[in-house]
Amino acid sequence: MAASSSSAARAAAADGAELHSRRRPREEGRVGSADPASAGSGKRALVDDAVTFSTDLLRVYYARFFPYRPFYRWLSYSQDPSMDLPMAQKGFMARREFSFTIENDIYIRYLSFGSEAELVKGIQSRQPHKIDIGAVFTHPPCNKESTKKGSFLPVERELIFDIDLTDYDEIRTCCSGAGICHRCWPYMTVAIRVIDRGLREDFGFKHIFWVYSGRRGVHCWVCDRSARALGNDGRSAIVEYFSAINGTMEKNAADLVPLTVPLHPSLKRALGDLETMFIENIIPESGQGLLADGQTERWESVLAFVPDVGDLKETVRVAWAAPGVTASQRWVQLQSAVAHTRSGLKQVHFRERTALAKAIPTIVLAFTYPRIDVNVTKGINHLLKSPFCVHPKTGRVCVPIVAEDCESFDPMQVPTIPRLVAEFDAFREAGGDDGAAAAAESGSAAPAELWRQTSLGDYMTKWERGFLRPLERDIAATMRRRAERAAAVTGDW
Ligand SMILES: [Zn+2]
Repeated sequence: MAASSSSAARAAAADGAELHSRRRPREEGRVGSADPASAGSGKRALVDDAVTFSTDLLRVYYARFFPYRPFYRWLSYSQDPSMDLPMAQKGFMARREFSFTIENDIYIRYLSFGSEAELVKGIQSRQPHKIDIGAVFTHPPCNKESTKKGSFLPVERELIFDIDLTDYDEIRTCCSGAGICHRCWPYMTVAIRVIDRGLREDFGFKHIFWVYSGRRGVHCWVCDRSARALGNDGRSAIVEYFSAINGTMEKNAADLVPLTVPLHPSLKRALGDLETMFIENIIPESGQGLLADGQTERWESVLAFVPDVGDLKETVRVAWAAPGVTASQRWVQLQSAVAHTRSGLKQVHFRERTALAKAIPTIVLAFTYPRIDVNVTKGINHLLKSPFCVHPKTGRVCVPIVAEDCESFDPMQVPTIPRLVAEFDAFREAGGDDGAAAAAESGSAAPAELWRQTSLGDYMTKWERGFLRPLERDIAATMRRRAERAAAVTGDW
């Protein structure tokens, strides 16, 4: 592995040199001040809106806008010597695995960085198109090959969740594959709501944040100490807890959405958010159009979850086809018909009564409940794309999403590198401080936080306030308590 890493690194260096040599002619009139070397010239930005990602733009992003400082503060969990906390774990950051995908899809695993300066240097020298974050191991991953066989083991990592719109293709009607739009994004919004509440209220986790994956999904990072310490079994148990949908929509209702009556309290709570989303975004023509006019095939996909009792289904079909009925009226008609049929059954028809009681929640869950990629969560050693990367296909930065305000997050409005460049140029033209830019261009180990003068700064400020600072406060308090306890035991006051 060491050999393949170093050959990949050599390839990266070669790529970098080639890039540099062909950068000048290509950028003329295309990316303009996107070149970090010309950033101090004050000339007007010539950003080509059509180009949202290129190696040149990436170079600018890593030189000026990647939020190294908060990123490092998060991943070091205050264990860095510079934080000066008692009982900090020496070398903690150096044991974290990073992997880079560099140009031409060259993949380099088991990278590690012992300090913020090393991290900055590592990223800037290799210009990764994608950064993945892995576990914290017993030894620095860069020394993996020289570590005694069997002793290189993962010891902790965040509990992570990966939710992707491609896993909704059998229920979304507007887009498929990599496509997303405002009609299908609400699936992600409600997934954040439901999983975030479950993690906080059912498991007691506090230090959680969500990130836009840059294209068609979201990632969740649970960073509480107890979450990071989970083994594979604990991770599997938690993701199973959140797996209310078992398989594909072809299955029958009971197999697809196994429910108990009464409902599990967490599903009952989730149904509150899910039914609102179902009514606003799934059934009307302006959303997924599940119960929209004339969509008889989609109507049948709903009726497939309704048990065959008497003439219930036929009654609903007739009511739905009547002129002037709206999608939300169709939903009310179905609920009333199911309730009416159930109340007309004697207690001895236990099986039918139970099936009818489950029908409405089953439909809502089947068409809205989060589809989690369970394998990503299960393994302590699973890599996940880092926040603050730039997605090569969309050019969008993987920005944090505030869970409490996830409805206002719009993936189409996420900054791209050209936009950051333009925003920063506008800031400078308006008389903003130029000193920071000079510091960044001088190649200093810790780049100035120029991203604060762009729209990325808005996302970061909320992330620091809502996630990073509370996390650091908690760590400091825990470490103080532990130091006091240790002092009490040893009598060292
Ligand atoms: Zn869509």
